[in-house]
Amino acid sequence: GSGYSLMRDPRYNKGLAFTEKERDAHYLRGLLPPIVLSQELQEKKMMNLIRQYEVPLHRYMAMIGLQETNERLFYKLLIDNVEELLPVVYTPTVGEACQKYGSIFRHSQGLYISLKEKGKILETLKNWPERTVQVIVVTDGERILGLGDLGCQGMGIPVGKLALYTALGGVRPSLCLPITIDVGTNNEKLLNDEFYIGLRQKRATGEEYNELLQEFMYAVKQNYGEKVLIQFEDFANHNAFELLARYSSSHLVFNDDIQGTAAVVLAGLLSALRLLGGTLADHKFLFLGAGEAGTGIADLIALEISEQNGKPIEENRKNIWLVDSKGLIVSSRKESLQDFKKPWAHEHEPITGLINAVKAIKPTILIGTSGVGKQFTKEVVEDMASFNKTPLIMALSNPTSQAECTAEEAYTWSEGRAIFASGSPFDPFEYEGKTFVPGQANNAYIFPGFGLGVIMAGSIRVHNGMLLAASKALASQVTEEHYEKGMIYPPLTNIRKISANIAAKVAAKAYELGLASHLPQPEDLVESAEKCMYSPVYRSYL
Ligand code: NAP
Ligand code: MN
Repeated sequence: GSGYSLMRDPRYNKGLAFTEKERDAHYLRGLLPPIVLSQELQEKKMMNLIRQYEVPLHRYMAMIGLQETNERLFYKLLIDNVEELLPVVYTPTVGEACQKYGSIFRHSQGLYISLKEKGKILETLKNWPERTVQVIVVTDGERILGLGDLGCQGMGIPVGKLALYTALGGVRPSLCLPITIDVGTNNEKLLNDEFYIGLRQKRATGEEYNELLQEFMYAVKQNYGEKVLIQFEDFANHNAFELLARYSSSHLVFNDDIQGTAAVVLAGLLSALRLLGGTLADHKFLFLGAGEAGTGIADLIALEISEQNGKPIEENRKNIWLVDSKGLIVSSRKESLQDFKKPWAHEHEPITGLINAVKAIKPTILIGTSGVGKQFTKEVVEDMASFNKTPLIMALSNPTSQAECTAEEAYTWSEGRAIFASGSPFDPFEYEGKTFVPGQANNAYIFPGFGLGVIMAGSIRVHNGMLLAASKALASQVTEEHYEKGMIYPPLTNIRKISANIAAKVAAKAYELGLASHLPQPEDLVESAEKCMYSPVYRSYL
């Protein structure tokens, strides 16, 4: 091909890093200034540029601009500067980007399937240029992060998540397909926004919604086969649980808000046991929030306890209590509860107010997943600290403004005894001469490695055993040095190594369960995970 088209294709473009020989071989002479830069120098230049933007959204736009012009350089930046750039390409900045997606829209990314494509979804999928796809992240935009219904502009989420699949999990970019399903939006502000990019109508629901999703799910299977991982992302909970249940026996599906969250939080709990003592079965759990995150985590905890003590899951659920917007979930409410809450309706008198639930249940572990900020008040934390030597407090609601309490509050109100982790990052905090490092229960620890493991094994289904394997693999990466600082998650800087270990354990489980199709099983799965991981270093075009 001509050098000009090489330069214009983000997959091949190297910008000023095309060598003299490549410039000769591909008719690039004169199309570039005479200097040749190394990829390292390009990276340094881009990082300097990005750091000059003070507005987070400008940083986001600079990164997307890079992704659209020079893919390898984009991933080199992301891989080498994970902690700094994760909040740019993903939460919290991606949330603002979705809110303003229409206004900042330049090149189209990903694939849009709207009600207009009904009856033509297979044709639409065929318009995507890649024949082989291994991971699809799909949203319908109804519950984007903690920001609610952003309709078609939710596309920022699948795009961002898949960038992490590549950067953190090493899945090649060409194998990743971001999809947004547009069935309308109930967001009035967007419906009245002249730059809104989606269908200007209220959300389709019921039959109409289910038929479009059904057509989509089977078109994907027809076009890409059985082994494409379909990750549901940021669906509202009334659809999320149903879709997962409906398609988990016919498709390779994974819901990150339910299952990914569960695996990352369970990993934090397993590693925290080293500081708290006892086994999971010795602890009592109280959740504030009984939605996708809360019940997803609770389910996986109960399952892990059953694996450990061999007792029926119903019995192990009894030590796990959840509070929703109406109060403690108890048996007298059972009839009126959504299905996903029913397993948690234990015998107890009705209780309203978190503080009353804390006093009645006396949990050793308190987990916030309600999306409502500041609910772990001084009284709640002090109470936890009054009957626990080492209370474990997880304030998982995002973004930072919605956290149930801050790291500082958890440490000071518990007089430095709490173990604290949160969904959004908090800085280390010094209390009475000791520095405490809060953990971040970021889903990015799990899903990239989990997906890589599923792909490596050629697994045709996701099984809960694979989630448990991922949790244990993550927990095993926490060392003594981390525990001394109160950390229950390893630093994100080592994420590629962590992902390779998670992938290996997930793949091993898939082989063990007979779900793997890539045979024979490689001898060293960590090594084969590392070997198949995408490297952003430029290729030679000679
Ligand atoms: P969701 O499915 O909408 O569930 C929210 C739950 O919170 C519902 O059960 C709701 O009660 C309950 N709730 C709302 N207001 C409440 C109040 N004032 N008091 C008590 N309960 C209340 O949402 P989700 O997907 O689970 O997400 C919840 C939060 O978790 C979000 O902020 C999200 O960012 C965070 N999250 C964090 C991570 C992470 O840290 N890795 C991962 C996933 C999610 P009703 O059922 O009665 O309406
Ligand atoms: Mn999500």
